[in-house]
Amino acid sequence: MRKNSWIAWLIVLAGIFAVVQIKPQIVPQVKSELQSANNQIQPYVYLIKANIEKKLSGQRETTTEKQVGKATTPTEEPLQGMTTAKTYYYHFKDNVPQSARQVFEYAVEQYNKTGIVNLVPGKADSDQNSVTFFVYHKKIENVMSSSVELGNGGPSALQLNDYAINTSRAGLNLTYPTLSVKKSVAMHELGHALGLAHSSYTNSVMYPVDQGVYQLSEADLNGLRSIYDK
Ligand SMILES: [Zn+2]
Repeated sequence: MRKNSWIAWLIVLAGIFAVVQIKPQIVPQVKSELQSANNQIQPYVYLIKANIEKKLSGQRETTTEKQVGKATTPTEEPLQGMTTAKTYYYHFKDNVPQSARQVFEYAVEQYNKTGIVNLVPGKADSDQNSVTFFVYHKKIENVMSSSVELGNGGPSALQLNDYAINTSRAGLNLTYPTLSVKKSVAMHELGHALGLAHSSYTNSVMYPVDQGVYQLSEADLNGLRSIYDK
């Protein structure tokens, strides 16, 4: 029955085709093909010695973007060369105190004002981008250390070809609340979560040492556009 088996195969192929058509959102189904990138976590610090020296000398070492011309804040490795959605769903861990929520909410507002990303309160589905805001406690291990860790955060991207689903985190170190619960720290850590890497310019929110900068620079905006406006 050659003809019948041919028809049977056709029916099977049509069935497979129908399943593929019905499930265009293949992303959650093919997790085995997704590569998980490690979280890019670099601590954001407050330099004790540098600040004392700065106060004594009354001057500040600065390299700003204006002195260099057009600059772009670099992209964290998991999102480099990737396309990703501009919409993020964000939520706070239960133990985040009101003071920390306030500075994170300020940061959310600033990033939303750019129009480049869109952060919405709520929980994300597995194929949507998310930010989890958290707090933690970490003491200086070395008493001779010249820096205090204020926070950390970063993207964690599941990559499918050149598309990334970013499950990101942004946190403040509550061991030093007077230094860490600040708009500048929240801007920095949310910047990491959204894929911005460290900048060498002191007027960028992504400079690795807190300068109290709580507004995005031109280069920070360029950096965001390079990730989300492709
Ligand atoms: Zn950092």
